[in-house]
Amino acid sequence: MARYTDAVCRQCRREGKKLFLKGDRCYSGKCAITRRQYAPGQHGQGRKKVSEYGIQLRAKQMTRRYYGVLESQFRKYYEMAEKREGKTGEALLAILESRLDNTVYRLGWASSHAEARQLVNHGHFTVNGKKVDIPSYLTKPGDVIAIAEGSRSNGKFKVVIEACASRPVPKYLEAKPEAFEGKVVAIAQRDEIDLDVDETLIVELYSK
Ligand code: SF4
Repeated sequence: MARYTDAVCRQCRREGKKLFLKGDRCYSGKCAITRRQYAPGQHGQGRKKVSEYGIQLRAKQMTRRYYGVLESQFRKYYEMAEKREGKTGEALLAILESRLDNTVYRLGWASSHAEARQLVNHGHFTVNGKKVDIPSYLTKPGDVIAIAEGSRSNGKFKVVIEACASRPVPKYLEAKPEAFEGKVVAIAQRDEIDLDVDETLIVELYSK
């Protein structure tokens, strides 16, 4: 499977925003974007006039990077969103939010999307009682996501969950940590999605 292999913090510096890709480090003084508030590379500190296309591209790249999705898959989600009722940009974000790796992250069972993806890949979760190890699996309202029986006593996994326990869970999910499970109760609404992006810019970009 193709994946992003460049230094993770460069992605935040490129977008000029914290994308919270490295778990605990993102909340500490070691965060690269708080220490170097300019884009990476030789010309990162130069002042640039950004075109309309450039602004739209940055919105798309930032969203794609936040969820850890490659371009081809992101495009596929956009095409799915176009077929849904309502605003395409909001539908796109709702689809991205419904990915299993994101659901695991939002339920507070991982400190970053990358960690959530790895935990899913390693088969630590079930959906409606069946093991699912595909991070891109799209959950839907009514689905019950649970930590697999065999993983509940895993020491490393316990530490991850305890570290993330204080994170707020969005309204479209219901967390039941005592039962090692969470439920998708609704499709994510825009105001419940914690991502500072103007999704209409992505629609403008892809509509060209
Ligand atoms: Fe981004 Fe986290 Fe790196 Fe800070 S520490 S630049 S938020 S990935």
